[in-house]
Amino acid sequence: TDIGSQKDRVVTEEEWLQKWETGNIGFHKDQGHPLLRKYLDVLLNGRSGLRIFFPLCGKAVEMKWLADMGHSVVGVEVSEQALKEFFAEHSLPYCEEPVPEISGAKKLQSISGNISLYCCSVYDLSSSIVGKFDGVWDRGALVAVNPRDRQRYVSLMITLMEKNSSYLLVTVSYDPNKHKGPPFYVPESEMKSLFG
Ligand code: SAH
Repeated sequence: TDIGSQKDRVVTEEEWLQKWETGNIGFHKDQGHPLLRKYLDVLLNGRSGLRIFFPLCGKAVEMKWLADMGHSVVGVEVSEQALKEFFAEHSLPYCEEPVPEISGAKKLQSISGNISLYCCSVYDLSSSIVGKFDGVWDRGALVAVNPRDRQRYVSLMITLMEKNSSYLLVTVSYDPNKHKGPPFYVPESEMKSLFG
């Protein structure tokens, strides 16, 4: 359960923006994630019209899936390019507005209204800005957070959850001495202590 040298590794926002600019986005799945299909019932638990949060959303196509099922989707992503590609690739018209509470942030919202994507750092958000969620799809999110920021990230996620919400978390398991990440290795014991 040792994460070795990964614990000190930092990927800056600038580096993430650069990955988008250069198309170095091997994490993006055009076909969506099979684990969301598999565990959709766990996320929804028979409920309809949910508010679902996508932290560090990139241009995840699962946002479109859930919106098409009638849920409302909120995402956050530092790369504006990623968000614009999302709307363009699904031919979704959208509008842009500033977020008064967060300087420099923008909200890109589908005209149909059920997909709202914040262009800012996840750490800028709070429940007073985005509300609380019935479900969270965390794929490529906790594992993309710099290891030193994990507790801060998870504590924030917990404040964004409604009482009966479900949180689907995808992690990766590998020898952290063989790759520098991201995705970072998050040991099971650490997940337990992070989420409590
Ligand atoms: N969840 C997406 C993207 C995973 S890659 C998917 O499944 O495809 C991680 C994403 O997080 C990148 O797009 C990166 O630009 C974004 N990101 C990194 N740090 C962030 C931060 N602090 N706040 C918001 N987005 C961030």
